[in-house]
Amino acid sequence: MRADLLYASTTNLTRDNTQRVEALLARMTVEEKVGQMTQLAIGFISTGDGDNLQLDQAKLEKAVVKYGAGSILNVRDQALTVEKWREIIGQLQAASQKTRLKIPILYGIDSIHGGTYVRGATLSPQEIGMAATWNPALMQRVSEIAASETRAAGIPWTFSPVLDLGRQPLWPRFYETFGEDPYLATIMGVAFVRGFEGDDISSPDHVATSLKHYVGYSFPLNGRDRTPAWIPENYLREYFLPPFAAAVQAGARTVMVNSAEINGTPGHLNHHLLTEVLRGELGFKGFVVSDWEDIKKLVSTWRAAPDEKEATRLAVMAGIDMSMVPQDYSFSDLLVELIKEGKVPMSRIDEAVGRILRVKFDLGLFENPMPNPKTGFATAESRQVVLEAARESLTLLKNENGILPLSKHSKVLVTGPTADSLIPLNNGWTYVWQGNNAALYPKDRPTILKAIQEKSGGNVTYVPGVTFDKEIDIAAAVRAAQDAELTVVCLGESSYAETPGNITDLTLNGPQVKLAEAIEATGKPVLLVLVEGRPRVINRIADGAKGILLALNPGNEGGAAVADVLFGDYNPNGKLPFTYPRTPNSYLTYDHKLFETEETAFGNEAFKPQFEFGSGLSYTTFTYSNLQVSPKTVPLNGQLNISVTIKNSGQRAGKEAVIVYLRDQVASLTPPGRRVKRFAKISLDPGQSRTLSFTLGRDDFSFIGADNKPIVEPGDFAVMVGKLSDEFSLQAK
Ligand code: BGC
Repeated sequence: MRADLLYASTTNLTRDNTQRVEALLARMTVEEKVGQMTQLAIGFISTGDGDNLQLDQAKLEKAVVKYGAGSILNVRDQALTVEKWREIIGQLQAASQKTRLKIPILYGIDSIHGGTYVRGATLSPQEIGMAATWNPALMQRVSEIAASETRAAGIPWTFSPVLDLGRQPLWPRFYETFGEDPYLATIMGVAFVRGFEGDDISSPDHVATSLKHYVGYSFPLNGRDRTPAWIPENYLREYFLPPFAAAVQAGARTVMVNSAEINGTPGHLNHHLLTEVLRGELGFKGFVVSDWEDIKKLVSTWRAAPDEKEATRLAVMAGIDMSMVPQDYSFSDLLVELIKEGKVPMSRIDEAVGRILRVKFDLGLFENPMPNPKTGFATAESRQVVLEAARESLTLLKNENGILPLSKHSKVLVTGPTADSLIPLNNGWTYVWQGNNAALYPKDRPTILKAIQEKSGGNVTYVPGVTFDKEIDIAAAVRAAQDAELTVVCLGESSYAETPGNITDLTLNGPQVKLAEAIEATGKPVLLVLVEGRPRVINRIADGAKGILLALNPGNEGGAAVADVLFGDYNPNGKLPFTYPRTPNSYLTYDHKLFETEETAFGNEAFKPQFEFGSGLSYTTFTYSNLQVSPKTVPLNGQLNISVTIKNSGQRAGKEAVIVYLRDQVASLTPPGRRVKRFAKISLDPGQSRTLSFTLGRDDFSFIGADNKPIVEPGDFAVMVGKLSDEFSLQAK
C-alpha cells in the first residue's frame, strides 16, 4: 500500500507536546489518571429530549469534577443545533475547569457522513457511496467540510472513518465501509483522515479522527453484527489491516476497537493486535478507545472474563487506553482498585493517560477548551460539494438501448418506498442513531420524487405501491404504469444502524419485488433506482428492467442527484466498490481465486454476479488503448511502469475511474485472480484523450505469506486495465 507516498504524514506538523504531557502526568493522582481513561455518555449526565436537553448539575459534578472523566460522547437522543451544542460543550468545559488540574474534556461523536449529529449540517454520501466515486480528492474535501461543521459545534473528535472492509454483504454496517477492496479503502480512508485532521488539529476547522473498528469487525461468518469472524492472520494482514496501517501513517490520532471477536479472541482482549501490531509494527502513537460498553461485554456477552474487574484488567493490559464505559463508574472504581492492588502497573496507566493528554494538547484544548469562534456552517459552497459527491456516487448499472437519459417531456410514473423520503437516502447515523426521525430532516431538500417533478414540468404521477415490506396497492401502481410512458421504480432499504439492521436474507423484500414484477409485466419500460446500504438481491426484476441506477445512500442531495442523472443533466460516473451478487448464496468478491469460478467448482454455474466490481456506465464512451508495461522483466526490488491511453470516444463530457489490476500467475499461497493496485479518476471532453502513467514497486508485487510476513516471489504477472492486458516477469536477483 503506497498511500504514504500520496500523503505526507502529519504527525510531525503539530507542535511536540511531549514535555507538557510529562509535566502534567507527574502532577496527577491515581484517581485523576483513571478519570482521563474514562468516557461517559451525555445521556448519563443529562435530562430532557431534543432541544430541551439539560445537563443534570449533580450528575455533571460527579462525572466531571469528582471522577474527572476525561471524555464525554454521543447525543442523548438526537442531533442538536450548533448553538445548543456550544452551550452544552461550554458547560462541560466549565465543569472541567473546576477540577484541580483543569484538564479539558475531550468530546467525541460519530460524524459518519458529515456532521451527522449537528442539526442542519452538510451531509454527504455514506462511505459506501464515497467509495463509488473513486475520487479521493472529493473525499478529502467532503471530510474538510464535515470536520469544520463538527468543530463549529465545539466537538473536536469524531469516531470515523470506518476502515472495516465490506466483504460480507449481509453485515448491517456494510454501508459504513468503503467496500470490498483494501486498496480503495486505504486511499479513501487516508483522504478521510487528511480532510478531518488537516495539518493542524488545533485549528477551528479540524477534528481528531478515530479509525474503526480495529480490526476484522466487518467479516462475521454469519453476517450479523458483533458476531465471530474467523480470519487467519495472513489474510488479516493481507486484506483487513492495510487501510488501518496507512491511516495510522497519515497521522490519525485515535483508534476504536473491534466490538466483536476474531478467531475466538474478543477485539478488546487482543494484546497481539492492540499492542504488538498496532504499536510495535504500525507505530501508532495516539490512544485506543474501546467501543460501547465493551469491557462489560467481555463478561456478559463474550464470557471471556469471570467478572468486570478481571475484564478491566485484561482489557487495559491488552492495550485499551480509554473505556467507553459509558453509563456508570465501574471502570473507574475497578481500575483504581487494580492499580492499588498492583495488578495493573502504573507504567501502563501513564502510557495510556499520556497518549490521551497528548491528543488534548494537540487539539489546542488546554489553550482554549471552549468552542472556537464560529466558522462558516452549512454554506452554499459546502452544499454544492456534497451534491457533487452524491452525483459522483451514483452508479449506472444497466442502460438498455440507451433508455437513459430521459426526455424532460416524458410522462413518468414514480413508485416504490424510496421515492419520497430523505430517510433511505441517508440511512443510519443521521440526526439519530437509526436515522429514522423524519421531523429532523431538512424541508428544503427534494426527495427523488420531488426532484423528478421539478425537472419534468408536471408530467409525473406518483403511486407508492408498497412500503418497504408491505403491499399498499400494487394494482393502482400497475394502472398508473399503463397510463405512463415509463415507470421509475424506487426500491431498497429503509434506514438502520448496527444490530437492528441484521437481516437473514439478502433478497430485496418480497412486496418490492412483486411491485417491480407487476409493472414490468405491463410491457412498459421500467427503470429501477436502488437506494440501499448493501446489495439486496434483485435477480427476479433486473432482467426485465431497462435501466438500473444504484444510488446507495447519497445523503440529502441524493434526490436532486438522481434526477440529474435520470434526465441527463449529469453524466454518471460511479463505479461499484463491491461485487453485486445475483443470488444470496453466490457472493464472491472480485478478487476471488480463479478456480473458485471454474466449472470444477461451480458445475455449469460459473461466476455470474448481477454486476461486477468496478462496473458503472456513462452517457459517453471511453476507449482504452496503448497499454504499455515496461520493463518486461523487473527485478524483485525494481519498478514497473504502466501507461494507458483513455479517450472519450462519445458525444458528452464525462468522468472515468481508470482501475489498474494485477494478477500474480503462480504463488506459494494460491493467488487471487486479480487485485486493484492503482486507480485514477479523470475528466475528458468529447474527443479528448489522456495518457495515464502508474509506477508499481515491490510492495505491489508482494503478498502476505504463510508465515504472516510480506513476500515477493519471482514469476509471471498480468496487468489489466479496462479490457486490455499485458504481462511482465519478476526476476530474482
Ligand atoms: C458503535 C461505534 C460508535 C459508538 C458510539 C457503537 O455502538 O459500534 O461505531 O462509534 O457506538 O456511538
